[in-house]
Amino acid sequence: MQHTSKLPNVGTTIFSVMSALATEHGAINLSQGFPNFKSDQKLIDLVSKAMNSGYNQYAPMLGDLELRQAIAKKYELLYNTSYHPESEIVVTAGATQAIFTIITTFIKPNDEVIIFKPAYDSYEPNVELNGGKAVPIQLQASNGFKVNWHEVKEKINSQTKMIIINSPHNPTGSVFSKDDMLQLENLTRNTNIMVLSDEVYEHMIYDGENHQSACLFPDLKTRSFVVASFCKTFHNTGWRIGYCCAPKELMQEFLKVHQFTVFCIHHPTQKGIADYMQEPKHYLELSDFYQKKRDLFLTLIKDSKFKFAASKGTYFQVLDYSGITQEHDVDFAKRLTIESGIASIPLSVFNSNNLDNKVLRFCFAKTDDTLKQAADILNRII
Ligand code: GLN
Repeated sequence: MQHTSKLPNVGTTIFSVMSALATEHGAINLSQGFPNFKSDQKLIDLVSKAMNSGYNQYAPMLGDLELRQAIAKKYELLYNTSYHPESEIVVTAGATQAIFTIITTFIKPNDEVIIFKPAYDSYEPNVELNGGKAVPIQLQASNGFKVNWHEVKEKINSQTKMIIINSPHNPTGSVFSKDDMLQLENLTRNTNIMVLSDEVYEHMIYDGENHQSACLFPDLKTRSFVVASFCKTFHNTGWRIGYCCAPKELMQEFLKVHQFTVFCIHHPTQKGIADYMQEPKHYLELSDFYQKKRDLFLTLIKDSKFKFAASKGTYFQVLDYSGITQEHDVDFAKRLTIESGIASIPLSVFNSNNLDNKVLRFCFAKTDDTLKQAADILNRII
């Protein structure tokens, strides 16, 4: 058929494959990242209240104004920086739509986009769909997935249009330091390179670290889109609601595409979240909440055959299984699901040339009970 694209076939992303396999075999599903507990009843009540109060017609294209104001307040409170709610903040159908729309707005054929691998699976297809060229930079588990900024400098040329960063990082749980961000700022200063900063895990950062948002660095901020997620922050991945922030001139371009693709987002959810955000503790307490889960999980598996360094952010923990088997990570992840009843995500699918470092990703956004059951299984694997 003539009308086929080079994108992977439907149902073949690793998240679909592993979740389907987990369901088929009744395995504990620590693969696809989503909580298996309910979100705050108060938030559900606020969204219901918004529906019952009549917020059921189109929202403004940029998003409900109260929600944009609440977002602006958050940036002032946490990062002491301002995004104008009327021109620099847009509510989107999840971070995924924001990422797609940013890339589609700015990436033209032959533009190059630097992507650090392992990378979340939607970046590269989005770039290629727009005729752009993804330029991968492979990070190594052996040095904690640190970026070598000299290598980045070498990859930058006149075609470079964008650099995509993601901290806290899915799938590895690593985070960018202030120094990383300063290096990025210096490398892109006085260039036309844009930065897409995927910050969907900003409220899950551990051991007293501070999230280094792109908006904290004044020069970087002028060239950056900051992308964030309410689904992850408020435990409702099915709600598909997120947002992005950027300087007005960039956002004007973004909106040209947004107006004809999504136009506006589910109105009552926006109203409910706007009310819920009036209490900052609803997002400020998340790091403590998830750090406890990370610590529980790691304490429970400390005597297992898996090797690990504690995740620094996100709700993912990577485990090295090289002391157990030399099987390919995709094969091992499938076998663990089918034979042992626990599903995870093999990291090779996010790497350049499917580099296999014998590492699996486990999602710890689960009830303590589920984490205990998962740990029991992992401890038996030798
Ligand atoms: N963000 C989720 C994860 O990393 C996956 C979302 C999806 O299934 N595309 O697990």
